[in-house]
Amino acid sequence: MIIACLPCSTRGNSIYAACDKVTDSEPMVEVEQSPKKAASTNKQLPPKSKLELTLEKMGMLDVKKEIPGIYVDLMYTRADNFTGKVLYRNLNRAYLHPDAMAPLKRAQAILKKRRPDLSLKVYDAVRPMSVQQIMWNTVAGTSKNIYVSNPKNGGGMHNYGVAVDVTLCHATTGDTIGIDMGTQIDYLGKLAQPRYETEFLKSGKLSKEAYENRKLLREVMVEAGYKVLPSEWWHFNLVSRSVAKQKYKVIP
Ligand SMILES: [Zn+2]
Repeated sequence: MIIACLPCSTRGNSIYAACDKVTDSEPMVEVEQSPKKAASTNKQLPPKSKLELTLEKMGMLDVKKEIPGIYVDLMYTRADNFTGKVLYRNLNRAYLHPDAMAPLKRAQAILKKRRPDLSLKVYDAVRPMSVQQIMWNTVAGTSKNIYVSNPKNGGGMHNYGVAVDVTLCHATTGDTIGIDMGTQIDYLGKLAQPRYETEFLKSGKLSKEAYENRKLLREVMVEAGYKVLPSEWWHFNLVSRSVAKQKYKVIP
């Protein structure tokens, strides 16, 4: 979800992509999350929208087309996200910049080698700035606004097509039932933050299984070329914000 989509920059050579809005000392807001509905992973997609065709003209690639076997379930096409609203009305396919697609493809291959029973499942990829604006408008003036990058400040890595929200799922069905990741994918709270995992593991708030699953996801994504965000276990950036600004165009 969204913390990840805040402006980020790399911290030295760390695999972690630092986030400049959520800090260790910043109070986190615990938000009730409704359980994610089982994804209908083989659902018929509507014809490509004007927005999707524009993204393709810009050179963005369709994740499902490029990576056979991967699952896609865009969380903002449904209302069971942190805003409680459908935010993606014209976006039903996950797109990424080719530079971000290649390492995602590698990550899926690495995972399949280590765990043939598992697959990656993408919950968000390219997010046009116009959608970022809708998202910002939804949280503006509420306690949730610390989780959303204000488009006025340049948006986040999703707005360049070089970030992905991803989890593990069962390879044969695409569902995530029984794969404990500790929290829902867009859970707004400390328990979702990799930087506190050891602490939560010790206190028993995070199960050993969830700890190991997150570790596996991170390992395959990092080996493939992505950077970890210390505030969201599901979000991975290809590059820092400063590099993205120099190298890539914001998707309008
Ligand atoms: Zn994200």
